[in-house]
Amino acid sequence: MPVYEYRCGRCSEISSVVSSVSNLKSEVSCEHCGGVANHIISRPSVHLSKTSKLERLDPRYDKMVDKAMSSTQNAEPDRILKRMKPFSRDGSVLPHK
Ligand SMILES: [Zn+2]
Repeated sequence: MPVYEYRCGRCSEISSVVSSVSNLKSEVSCEHCGGVANHIISRPSVHLSKTSKLERLDPRYDKMVDKAMSSTQNAEPDRILKRMKPFSRDGSVLPHK
């Protein structure tokens, strides 16, 4: 949820309030003195989607992940096939050789 800032009319301190857009109040009580604080326009806090966050990652990070993944067991594509037991024609599991 975005953070909204309110400036106190009494002490001029800024109070930050986390609120949904639909629940936005034009004034809140000051965190510092309890006076009436009015909503001020602060720099927008940008919330990026996961996709755009990933796109912003350094391309070197991809290579680091690939390198790390290639050294794990999960990286081996035939791993699951090797662990599967062969079936006979009648559907019973053949013993391992
Ligand atoms: Zn105040």
